[in-house]
Amino acid sequence: MSNELENEKLSGYGAIELGGTRTICAVGDASGLVLNQTVIETTTPDETVAKILDYFKDKDLKSVGIISFGPVDVRQGSATYGDILNTPKIAWRKFPLLKTLTDALNANRDEKLPVGFDTDANGSLLAEVTWGAGVGLNDAVYVKVGKGIGLGAMVNGKLLHGMLHAEAGHIKMSVEAGDDFKGDCPSHGTCFEGMASGSAIAARWGKPARELNDKPEVWELEAKYIAQGLADIILTLSPQKIIMGGGVLHQKELLPLIRKNVVEYINNYIDTKELRNINSYIVPAALNGSQGIKGALKLAISAEEAAMRN
Ligand code: ZN
Repeated sequence: MSNELENEKLSGYGAIELGGTRTICAVGDASGLVLNQTVIETTTPDETVAKILDYFKDKDLKSVGIISFGPVDVRQGSATYGDILNTPKIAWRKFPLLKTLTDALNANRDEKLPVGFDTDANGSLLAEVTWGAGVGLNDAVYVKVGKGIGLGAMVNGKLLHGMLHAEAGHIKMSVEAGDDFKGDCPSHGTCFEGMASGSAIAARWGKPARELNDKPEVWELEAKYIAQGLADIILTLSPQKIIMGGGVLHQKELLPLIRKNVVEYINNYIDTKELRNINSYIVPAALNGSQGIKGALKLAISAEEAAMRN
């Protein structure tokens, strides 16, 4: 029995979240609702792109939003705009991600698809200020502590790019007294990511974070390093709110410890209502892990709006 609706192509905004280990492809609507999505393993560029294109081949897209792990060139007008840059993932280094995907998605179209592109951390922040924990804010940050550490930043209502994009995962840390871990970052050793990422936790303690739930010393030290990073971000960018995501934050004791350490580091130097209400200043992402793909969706919606204005 054939049904006309079943044969109709799913229509909406295309969203792609390219992650280091998995990639999400979705179609959503203008309200931020994800209508359909699939998760694929991120392997080589050729294989991953082929699977992305396979997902979208029977979808009717208005526009596309893409977010990616970094570093990535988000400077519109740059000769390498949309390329993956100096990633430790060798197969992806210098891969022209945006061009490859948009050329393929536009292959049989008369009118080119509007496309939005940004880092995964900026994308997650965009979703949170649109539909999540940061609605109404013009100056906010998203800090992801997962396998790596990333910062998304919005300043005066615009996602921060500057000369490239923020890389606060690599700011210098003061090594805590008694800690002899040499750090996990191939470029800087004991930077923020080198001391506090999920990879650093696994390297330091010999087990992945999820197997260390019953070791309070792990989380006490982890909270100190994350708080150092957040204090630097607070003092530099003066965000109205810090929204946190990433797998390491699944440890439920961690966020209260981070807040306590941030207050101690700031040491009353700044006296604002935000810092006095630290529980509502440093908050978990509200979109339950879908902030990345919803960020890509919002980039797609904005790209279509921009194309209609022009
Ligand atoms: Zn580093």
